Amino acid sequence: MPTRYQHLIGGEWCGEGEVANINPSDTNEVVGEAPAASKSEVASAIEAARAAGDSWAFSTPQQRFDVLDKAGTEILARVGELGEVLAREEGKPIAEAKGEVARAGQLFKFFAGETLRLTGDLTPSVRPGLTVEVTREPVGVVGIVTPWNFPIAIPAWKIAPALAWGNTVVFKPASNTPGCAFELVNVLVRAGLPSGVLNLVYGSGSLVGSVLTESGLVDAISFTGSTEIGRQLAVDAASRGIRVQTEMGGKNPMVVLDDADLDLAVEVCLNGAYFSTGQRCTASSRFIVTEGIHDRFVAALEERMRAMRVGSALDPATVVGPVVDQSQLDQDRRYLEVARAEGGEVVGGELVPQATPGYFLSPALVKGTTNDMTINREEVFGPVASVVKVRDYDEALAVANDTPFGLSSGICTTSLSRAAHFRRHSRSGMVMVNVATAGVDYHVPFGGNKASSYGPREQGSYAKEFYSVVKTSYVNAQG
Ligand code: NAP
Repeated sequence: MPTRYQHLIGGEWCGEGEVANINPSDTNEVVGEAPAASKSEVASAIEAARAAGDSWAFSTPQQRFDVLDKAGTEILARVGELGEVLAREEGKPIAEAKGEVARAGQLFKFFAGETLRLTGDLTPSVRPGLTVEVTREPVGVVGIVTPWNFPIAIPAWKIAPALAWGNTVVFKPASNTPGCAFELVNVLVRAGLPSGVLNLVYGSGSLVGSVLTESGLVDAISFTGSTEIGRQLAVDAASRGIRVQTEMGGKNPMVVLDDADLDLAVEVCLNGAYFSTGQRCTASSRFIVTEGIHDRFVAALEERMRAMRVGSALDPATVVGPVVDQSQLDQDRRYLEVARAEGGEVVGGELVPQATPGYFLSPALVKGTTNDMTINREEVFGPVASVVKVRDYDEALAVANDTPFGLSSGICTTSLSRAAHFRRHSRSGMVMVNVATAGVDYHVPFGGNKASSYGPREQGSYAKEFYSVVKTSYVNAQG
């Protein structure tokens, strides 16, 4: 039986399912049904968050710690079950899906701890008899809009810090992955979150987005998704004075130098490009390889790619799960066609029939490309990577930086000085040395430059730059 998801507005579950949640590994399976919020339902969710604001903002750190810590404990105890929900609705192979759920649990534990680490500054005034106190306060009502590709970890890394710093939330998950959102919100309700502090609304992104920006009661919006939508949302939010943070696309380079450990480089590239079916904003999509190692690297990579098992996300033997839906599959194949038409040679990228109908595509490598080709300029967001052959390190660095994006970048080398130079000169928010561009820790900042990110970093204690505001108070003790 499909699960019937509902909105949570002011502590009440409501709404009837209209939108089917389809399993991309077996499109005959309807996993669940989600309602689609009307404008007035979104407005009610915002009002509920506003009404709950004061009591949550002035709750003690211990109260907030207890809720977040309990939520983290439950998520960690249910990694297997929640991992299956994720794999079933998004198509992430089950081992990776469980890993993502565990990360969500760890995020709640980390931000539970942050509630106890809130500090401020007490400093003498330059004027006699006065002291100055600098404190952090909640921002207020935060709208949280998330994509489908990390359907539990991304909501966790936004909702947990929002709640930790005393904000109330209206959460709008991606329409493709309502199930993880439903489970997560249920966990938080069971953990004792008061009514109205966290509200969940399903429905069209443009409808919910417009109500969030126009209501006048929303103080901040944190968005993760495509660059086009993120940029428009940022313009709409900023024009109304709403604090905004947008995490968007990538076209992440992985440089492989002649002196690299070949086996390690192939492993790092395989993982970075094709795990999670390449549907990661941090996925390596451009391999920039110096000419001395190029042919050996490509041959070894092709051999490993061919051995990657494509199949149902729920089969433990699967390494590459299905693409999330038909339109993403069409997009992936369209980019491969364009790459061919522009002179690239495509290896892989074929439909892979399975016992059940689904969106199965084998990992693809586009060889013989130059950095000005479409495949190297635009984000594909599928199991697709390309190779650019370069003369030397200097050209590799220039090509790596020649992109509108700046999320994650990497280099495979045994040279300490090259690695140090690359870390310093790569124009991305995250730099990896001999490790995949995708796959990050949960306790340190996450985010990029240029078209990849706008606003303060997410995660780690840096998250407070977005989820809290600074107040400066002057006190005259003789008053
Ligand atoms: P998307 O189409 O931009 O959607 C993201 C979210 O925005 C969804 O919840 C969507 O709702 C909603 N939305 C759609 N139109 C909106 C509007 N006009 N106003 C406000 N919200 C709106 O992106 P996606 O296809 O889900 O995710 C893939 C993209 O996310 C890729 O570009 C990837 O690189 C990026 N991403 C970035 C990061 C990062 O941290 N930098 C992490 C993960 C993913 P509906 O689902 O209802 O359309």
